[in-house]
Amino acid sequence: MQGIVYLVGAGPGDPGLITVKGQACIEQAEVVIYDYLASAHLLKHASPDAELIYVGKKGGDHTLSQEGINALIVAKAREGKVVTRLKGGDPFIFGRGGEEAQALIEAGLPFEIVPGVTSAIAAPAYAGIPVTHRKEVVRLTMVTAHESVKKGGPQARWDLLASDRHAMILGYMGVAALPRVVENLLSYGMDPETPAAMIERGTTSRQSVVRATVSDLAGEVKKADIKPPALFAIGPAV
Ligand code: SAH
Repeated sequence: MQGIVYLVGAGPGDPGLITVKGQACIEQAEVVIYDYLASAHLLKHASPDAELIYVGKKGGDHTLSQEGINALIVAKAREGKVVTRLKGGDPFIFGRGGEEAQALIEAGLPFEIVPGVTSAIAAPAYAGIPVTHRKEVVRLTMVTAHESVKKGGPQARWDLLASDRHAMILGYMGVAALPRVVENLLSYGMDPETPAAMIERGTTSRQSVVRATVSDLAGEVKKADIKPPALFAIGPAV
């Protein structure tokens, strides 16, 4: 018998922000393979007989490589198991869900995607920041700050983002990369008074928010000792 895999978005941290469908996938799973960012509270929905496997990645500390995770998901589904792969936020937003889906296609195994509430929308909301605002903010850019400032990597168009006054920039993996991001934006002429915020552990009981102008944000983030997971929002809606 062949199993099935559900690639499920766990939401941003508040366990109330998983979808009804996502929760049902946890309840029905024989195997739950979960990440560091997927809230531990959600595992309470799993059956007492379910096998719970942690494959978390926290900063550089990887329990399993991505290839190892792909192989594990495929192996469990090949055993005929109902597998729920629980990932923080939305599985396809900077979560390598696309790679896991590709591995399942290559293995010829059935799977379904259950989208989740992504942190760059939810964390600002819990901090009182609407990511769009009529007439003020009419465009959003979600960016992996880490990849987008890498030398020789897929750079963001910081020049265009810097000059787009009616837009928000939402930066995932943004703590270490923040000084480089700000340097880029200011060098391309962004108004240094543009409002900005960094949100750590958004939507959880340990949420903390730092607000500053874009030119002061990196200094304030350092002072407040903000640690990942955290994301930044830059733009008029802050
Ligand atoms: N798939 C996830 C993102 C994974 S990338 C999603 O859709 O949300 C990991 C990054 O997401 C972290 O470095 C951080 O920038 C952001 N992140 C995830 N959860 C967060 C939270 N509760 N508060 C703030 N940022 C968070």
